[in-house]
Formats: sequence, C-alpha cells, structure tokens
Amino acid sequence: MPIDVLIVGQGLAGSLLAWLLIQQGYRVMVVDDGAENASQVAAGLINPITGRRLLKSPEVDTCLPAAKGLYQQLQQQFQQPFFVELPMLRVLNSPQQRDYAEQRQTQSAYQAYLKLGFVSCEQINAAFGLLQQQQTGYLKTRALLAVIKGYLQTSNSYRCSNFSYQDLQLEPDLQWQDLIPKQIVFCEGHQARFNPWFGKLPFQPAKGEILTGQVAENCPEQIINYGHWLLPLGAGQFKTGASFETRQLDNLPTQAAKQTLLNSLKTVCPNLANIQIIAHQAGIRATTLDKQPLIGSHPQYRQLHIFNGFGAKGSLAIPWYAQQFINYLQQQQPLPLGCDIGRYYDTHFPR
Ligand SMILES: Cc1cc2nc3c(=O)[nH]c(=O)nc-3n(C[C@H](O)[C@H](O)[C@H](O)COP(=O)(O)OP(=O)(O)OC[C@H]3O[C@@H](n4cnc5c(N)ncnc54)[C@H](O)[C@@H]3O)c2cc1C
Repeated sequence: MPIDVLIVGQGLAGSLLAWLLIQQGYRVMVVDDGAENASQVAAGLINPITGRRLLKSPEVDTCLPAAKGLYQQLQQQFQQPFFVELPMLRVLNSPQQRDYAEQRQTQSAYQAYLKLGFVSCEQINAAFGLLQQQQTGYLKTRALLAVIKGYLQTSNSYRCSNFSYQDLQLEPDLQWQDLIPKQIVFCEGHQARFNPWFGKLPFQPAKGEILTGQVAENCPEQIINYGHWLLPLGAGQFKTGASFETRQLDNLPTQAAKQTLLNSLKTVCPNLANIQIIAHQAGIRATTLDKQPLIGSHPQYRQLHIFNGFGAKGSLAIPWYAQQFINYLQQQQPLPLGCDIGRYYDTHFPR
C-alpha cells in the first residue's frame, strides 16, 4: 500500500506529528508496539522559567503559543480539555536565588511569565519566599494519546506492531511489510538508541519516577516547584515527581526513588504527612547531550528521518518543532539550527 509517511512510535512526538500531517492531507501510518511510554508516564508540565538561575529558555516565546494553539485545536476537535493552565509557586531555596528572582521581575522578557512580588503560604516551608509564575500548567498526555490513537485507528492509520528494523527494505523503494512509504520518521523516544540508522546520535536517556497520591485535606491548589514538584489534580489527588537517574535504565518503580520524592515533599509541605499513594510509575526520557532535540534526515538515506530528543520538555516543544519539521519535509525549509542532526553528520554517522 503506497503511503506518504510511515511514523514509528506513538508517543507525544509521533502522535502530534501524525495529527498535523493528516490535517495537511498526507497519507500516514503510525506503527507502535503498544508498550507504556514516557509520554504516558510524564506529568506533562509546561514551565517556561527553569533552573537554579530561573532562566527562560530561548525557544519559549515561540514554542508556548504553538503549544497552546495546537492543544486548543485538539480540545475543540475531541471536546476534551487536554491542557490545564495552572499557576506555579516556585520555592526559592537561597538568598542568591531570591536575588535572581528579583532581577527577573525587573526584566521585560520575563514580564509575561512572572507576577511581581513574593508570597508566603502557611502550608509551604519557604524561608526565602515563593515566586509566582504564570503561563504554567500541564498536558493530560495519557488522555490525549488515547484519543489520537482512536482517531488514527478509525482512519486506518494505526498498526500495533513492533517495527523490526531488519524487515525494512531501503532500495529501490522503501518498503515495510505491505507498506510502501515515501518517507519514514522515527519517533521512538529513548529506544532510538537501538535504531541502526540513528542510534549513534548522542542520546543521554534519564529514567524518571512519579507518584500519584491522595490526601484528605490541605492539598495546595497551585503547582509547587521545589526542585521536585507537586501537581494538584483536584479532589485531593496530586502527582509528585520526578526523580532523575541515568544509570539504571528500566521502567521499574523503585523504593529508593519513592522515598526521595516523599522526603522532599514532606520537607516543603509538612502538612501532607498522611498521603495515600495510589500509583507509582517510571519511564525513560529521551534526553540528549546538548539538551537540544534531534531532528532531521539520515545523511545517506535521505527518506529516513528522526524526530526525537525532547528531553523533559516534550509538551512545550513538540508542537512547534513538529510544524518546523513538516515545513522542512514539504518545502525543504531549513530546520532550526540547534535541533538539526546535521550538527552530528561528521562525528556520529559512520561512513
Ligand atoms: C517520569 C517522567 C516525567 C516527565 N515529565 C515531563 C513533564 O512534566 N513535561 C514534559 O514536557 N515532559 C516530561 N517528560 C518527558 C516527556 O515524556 C517527553 O518529552 C515526551 O513525551 C517524549 O515523547 P516521545 O514521543 O519522543 O517518546 P515516547 O513517549 O517514549 O514514545 C516513543 C514511542 O515509540 C514506540 N517505539 C519505540 N521503538 C519502537 C519500535 N521499534 N516499534 C514500534 N514502536 C516503537 C514506544 O513504544 C513509544 O510508544 C517526562 C518523562 C518522564 C519519563
């Protein structure tokens, strides 16, 4: 069956790319092995101001409107709220970080994302104050992936199967099983490390664990960010996470990460002592050496592409990068330099 684009992986990257391509008239097939993925485990947080120095990453001003626009469009299409806008309180952890916060509040580039002044809150231990962030929130990734899967299935654009690399015929035309695609885009998340064409790219995968809990009372109403974070879901339910581990790369929840997350939460919110844990999940982020996405075409097999490496920022970054990637496929428009895998052609692709 001839198609335009075969997408391998139905995480957030493959799902949003497939959705946008189909809206633009492409014949698409998504192949996914059906295993629980990082996108489903993720909290889906969107946070424009991050790190110890409270910096705004350069792509926020372009990525955030693209993300909100696409999630709004999907919300209208499927009549479900996927993106929940929720303010964030950042716990300042030192006098130096309080200085950074004061500086940012005077900088015009930060105005849209910060409220002036600091607050305190009885429930939260914050000796150096709380910075009020706005334009923050979270994406309901599991719900979004489920409706996109349903949509792909009804339009005969989804196959639940392991994409076996050795079964791909490269010449004279691409062929996999009965499919004859013009292009293949690999969106395999951290499993791209095992891809024979792109696996040498500098991924630095990081495992993360998240707890879902329930409290009888006193659950904060805003997102609390204290290095780890607490995300209120309503009706006393919340998520807290995420741990960060680069050596033990599996999907198994650990007692050690659970204890770290609970200790960290109780230090900041001592009132949340009697928590009932209702879920404990783990996943692997496709983080990269230079913290930039890995997008582009194979230097030799030009119809093979990768769309990956969104680290811990998939919800914010994927919508904008997906549109840039489609412009690149359609009109040969150059990719944003920082994400183009051309930066690794000389070093990471054996000749
Ligand atoms: C604990 C944790 C917390 C996170 N928190 C956040 C957060 O708050 N905010 C945020 O923006 N991001 C967060 N992230 C990161 C986020 O998950 C990613 O940025 C994004 O979801 C990655 O999506 P992806 O589609 O690239 O990869 P994945 O979601 O991993 O999807 C890849 C898919 O490809 C499939 N696949 C791979 N190989 C094959 C094959 N050969 N055949 C068939 N199928 C295949 C996999 O089964 C999977 O379904 C978090 C991640 C973790 C693990």
